[in-house]
Amino acid sequence: MSVEANLNEVQSQLPQGVTLVAVSKTHSAEVVMQAYEAGQRVFGENRVQELQEKYEALPKDIEWHQIGHLQKNKVKYIAPFVSLIHAVDSVELLDVINKEGAKNNRRIACLIQLHIAEEDSKFGFAYTEAKKFFEAYETSHYPNVLIKGLMGMATFTEDDAQIHKEFRTLKSFYDLIKETYFLENKEFNILSMGMSADYKIAIEEGSNLVRVGSAIFGSR
Ligand SMILES: *Cc1c(COP(=O)(O)O)cnc(C)c1O
Repeated sequence: MSVEANLNEVQSQLPQGVTLVAVSKTHSAEVVMQAYEAGQRVFGENRVQELQEKYEALPKDIEWHQIGHLQKNKVKYIAPFVSLIHAVDSVELLDVINKEGAKNNRRIACLIQLHIAEEDSKFGFAYTEAKKFFEAYETSHYPNVLIKGLMGMATFTEDDAQIHKEFRTLKSFYDLIKETYFLENKEFNILSMGMSADYKIAIEEGSNLVRVGSAIFGSR
């Protein structure tokens, strides 16, 4: 199947209001262009250098998302152009993003990553830490950051019930945080969950932004 056919297939599974981030990591600029020509404008990468190279090589109306773990010393390379940073997993990282946002005279949109999987290897705040973070959060301390929502990655498992449970818990937490801290702030409206293997489950559980790579571009 072509990239265009795969893209149409994935798009056909998405209800209205769910945004698709096409995860193009490891794939060439030419392959990204096939998706671009089929109408896709939102792409995700998890390595800063690759993101930067693709940003420079490809059309400027693409929205680039940094989806994976981000090292603090690399924020500066993407700060001028990145549309959304999905995986803010520490207050220290948020501080750096705020500083780099200021240098670039912009507010950088971010999601707070929650650790929802059983594996230790996945980054993110624990629920209790995230709660403390939001309790203490003052928008005025972060004038160059815009927190737009939450992100999480489920356990890599065949057990659909487990995945449902993890996404459902994250959705309830998202609703709680939105109602408690962002009622007046309409910008807090993104819940990023779901990849090729589990995006259908994520949508059933209330995701409104899915990050899909291999189902569009083939295996890496
Ligand atoms: C690679 C990656 C994806 C996409 O994974 P696929 O299984 O190829 O759909 C989504 N989110 C993050 C954070 C990733 O690193």
